[in-house]
Amino acid sequence: MKTPVRTCAGCGKRRPKHEMIRVGLDRDGEFLLGGAGKVPGRGVYLCPDGRCVEAARRRGSLQRSLGAGVPGELFGEIERLCEERE
Ligand SMILES: [Zn+2]
Repeated sequence: MKTPVRTCAGCGKRRPKHEMIRVGLDRDGEFLLGGAGKVPGRGVYLCPDGRCVEAARRRGSLQRSLGAGVPGELFGEIERLCEERE
C-alpha cells in the first residue's frame, strides 16, 4: 500500500501526509488545524517545522491555496502545534 504524501506549502518537499500539519478551511470560513479525520473543504499541508511555517507565511502560500486571508494568530497556533510534535 502506498503512503499518501502531500507537498509542504513552506518548503515544497513531499512527505507522508500523517507527518504533516493540515491547515483547513471549512465552508463557513473557519480554520481547522491538525489532521484528525476527514475535514471537508480546502486544505494545505505543512511540515511540523517552524521554518516551513515561516516560509509559508512569507510567501503567502496559505492565502493562495485557501483563497482566504490567514490571520496572524493562526500562524502562532500552527507553530505551537509544531512544537508539540517535536
Ligand atoms: Zn516543509
